[in-house]
Amino acid sequence: MSSISIKKRRKQEMFHVKHIKQFDAVVCGAGHAGVEAALILNRFKIPTALITIDPLAIGRMSCNPAIGGLAKGQIVKEIDVLGGIMGKATDYSALQYKILNKSKGKSVWSPRAQVDKREYENYINKAIVNAKHITVVQGEVVNIETERGIVSSAIMRDGQTIGCSTLILTCGTFLNGLIHIGEKQTPAGRYDEKPSTGLSEQLEKFKMKLGRLKTGTPPRLDGSTINYENLEKQDADTEPEYFSFLTKKTYNKQIACCVTYTNKKVHEIMKNASGNSWPISVYLLYLALKKECHQIINIVLVFLQAW
Ligand SMILES: Cc1cc2nc3c(=O)[nH]c(=O)nc-3n(C[C@H](O)[C@H](O)[C@H](O)COP(=O)(O)OP(=O)(O)OC[C@H]3O[C@@H](n4cnc5c(N)ncnc54)[C@H](O)[C@@H]3O)c2cc1C
Repeated sequence: MSSISIKKRRKQEMFHVKHIKQFDAVVCGAGHAGVEAALILNRFKIPTALITIDPLAIGRMSCNPAIGGLAKGQIVKEIDVLGGIMGKATDYSALQYKILNKSKGKSVWSPRAQVDKREYENYINKAIVNAKHITVVQGEVVNIETERGIVSSAIMRDGQTIGCSTLILTCGTFLNGLIHIGEKQTPAGRYDEKPSTGLSEQLEKFKMKLGRLKTGTPPRLDGSTINYENLEKQDADTEPEYFSFLTKKTYNKQIACCVTYTNKKVHEIMKNASGNSWPISVYLLYLALKKECHQIINIVLVFLQAW
């Protein structure tokens, strides 16, 4: 089914939902986690409302179009064994399979695939559209109602009440989300997408502990401005390790990634940067710790001293 007909069908479903107000289960959020939850409920034939702020962003990957990597690769495989969709969607859209850390011991090898993020999204969308027991509802859950201590409904910002006996919250990076770009801070779930506000206060009332996690994303480069000749090529593995144990073939032509490194000139630029960009330095520190890149750690320390 094309993405246009998916959008059409979703519009029709959303029209119906105005009249249907009671479901057995409500899943709030249609990112990776919400989609898995809804599809499992569907398998058990449980009438489920999948509520999401933007139905056209169901299954959207937030950042780098990569699935897996250290620790995460294993989780994707576990989700697959439990009957989840993530591994299958990854294989369907994979452009480069690579086992990372091959130069180290086997215990730290980890599978990663670079994927076509639009194809990934389409695969997930098709599964949701074809799921008989899932109704997609557009809107933002802002409140949770309980009766005698048990969840009874999700309240939406537009005033709709969706009754349910089970409510699964998978709000991801949207819950009170805040984006830092340089010194500017913008409430957002992802770039150009509204955050979810209101629910946090509600969860606090239920005496749940709230905290904030941080992720970082690199700037995007226009491919036409890159001289690939100067970059180190990283080919895909010749014998791909699929993410789903059900996958029997490679769906797409595999392509190479290209790697480059910082040099003294880049370090100088970083050292001489205007020094008032705290979030960027936090991002660098995060990268440095993640990659154990000591040169960058030194630069971060220089930055931090300057403040
Ligand atoms: C900028 C950025 C870069 C990232 N980079 C990477 C990376 O490189 N690699 C990596 O592995 N991970 C990365 N992550 C993290 C990754 O995106 C998340 O861990 C993952 O998306 C979490 O999945 P999720 O299903 O929990 O939530 P999300 O994917 O965040 O989805 C949440 C969904 O819930 C909906 N929603 C939220 N609140 C409500 C509400 N109240 N009512 C209705 N709908 C609601 C949203 O619309 C959205 O559809 C990045 C995240 C961001 C923001």
